[in-house]
Amino acid sequence: MERDYITLTIGKQKNIALIAHDGKKSDLIRWCQDNYEILKGHFLCGTGTTARMITDSTGLPVKGYNSGPLGGDQQIGAKIVEGKVDFVIFFSDPLTAAPHDPDVKALLRIAQVYDIPIANNKATADFLIHSKLMEESYDHDVINFHKNISERASNMQGGN
Ligand code: PGA
Repeated sequence: MERDYITLTIGKQKNIALIAHDGKKSDLIRWCQDNYEILKGHFLCGTGTTARMITDSTGLPVKGYNSGPLGGDQQIGAKIVEGKVDFVIFFSDPLTAAPHDPDVKALLRIAQVYDIPIANNKATADFLIHSKLMEESYDHDVINFHKNISERASNMQGGN
């Protein structure tokens, strides 16, 4: 009998995605400067403009995806699905409407589905980055999508 959940491991070295809306970019850059010593021990990526600005101002290597409004948030969501991003710092701007609001919602949702730690403001980011779990690997249970697909297909074919 296949299990409903599979155990995945967030390694000691995290794959951290960094994203900031325009009104929050300077806050995220300052946060990266403040946490440089911790961040340099992990793999970093981010949406295009955010990634470039962090690298320019801190020297940290940050792999850049597309800019957020051009699909960068969706690329990071896809990396979560593939198991290649396992930690997200997302300084979103709650006071400004953005053309890619649906993409932001999708990213938050997929992070929830895959049980990924995600901070959407500075205080949460501070608590996360100073957690003792940052220096350990962490096992968590994620829905067994293989089983889920088999059952869904079987149910929709009338249980054959
Ligand atoms: P950006 O995208 O880093 O390219 O500005 C961030 C966003 O708006 O989601």
